[in-house]
Amino acid sequence: MKRLLSVLLLPLGLAAFPALSYANHSWGNYHWARTINPFTLKLGDNVSSAWDAYLAAASTDWIVSDVLDTTIVPGLTTAKRCRPSSGRVEVCAATYGKNGWLGLASIWASGSHITQGAAKMNDSYFNTATYNTPAWRRLVMCQEIAHTFGLDHQDENFYDPNLGSCMDYTSDPDGPPSNEHPNAHDYEQLVTIYGSHTDSTTTLSQTGAQGAMPPAMTDIDFEGPGQWGRLIRSTHNGRTELYELDFGGGHKIFTFVIWADEEDGGRGNRR
Ligand SMILES: [Zn+2]
Ligand SMILES: [Zn+2]
Repeated sequence: MKRLLSVLLLPLGLAAFPALSYANHSWGNYHWARTINPFTLKLGDNVSSAWDAYLAAASTDWIVSDVLDTTIVPGLTTAKRCRPSSGRVEVCAATYGKNGWLGLASIWASGSHITQGAAKMNDSYFNTATYNTPAWRRLVMCQEIAHTFGLDHQDENFYDPNLGSCMDYTSDPDGPPSNEHPNAHDYEQLVTIYGSHTDSTTTLSQTGAQGAMPPAMTDIDFEGPGQWGRLIRSTHNGRTELYELDFGGGHKIFTFVIWADEEDGGRGNRR
């Protein structure tokens, strides 16, 4: 029965991303394959001491979920490179340059299953007065990590009232209500993604699915949009965008981007 479920879910994973709605903010059913719930996802620590408390806080925020746990482990890459490793997520913070983006998260998918992930915070902006605040650091860390679980945004309008979720974009993360942590709907969404089934295999191991990936897929540089592939969703003046790189055979990389404000050297309101 479990095997049958995975087969049935596969075509959903290959379908186009659904339109964003409050009821469902998963990444088109992309999820880590695991044989039991709750499962534990390793977060590789490649961040500086300025970020350690925020990484720890985000990890603590998400383990409230009944279906998944996170654990912080030593990173396997350099912050600048942020090269992913099979079966885990690398979390990185570095001065990536004033290239416009504040944070990004990428998932490597094989069919509907996530095989590895990377979350990056751009210190070139977080070192500026606008973004060097606990509220902005909490929001972006919380959100980028959650994208690697398969969670999408709850709301992408920067000027709506805050929903009280780090998956809600805002121009004022402090609120009230604060958008620095997950809310109940985020945990419900994780149950929707993970609570309904388990898989006969796991993608949470270091020796897992990476071997099946096209070699080019494991050696990608993510400095800018030229490397992120096709833009498949853009909202609200281009301040949040979703890109897809398709390697064929169900192998894809998705990258979620949040842009900094134009006045701070980002691409916000560029349209
Ligand atoms: Zn599955
Ligand atoms: Zn995002």
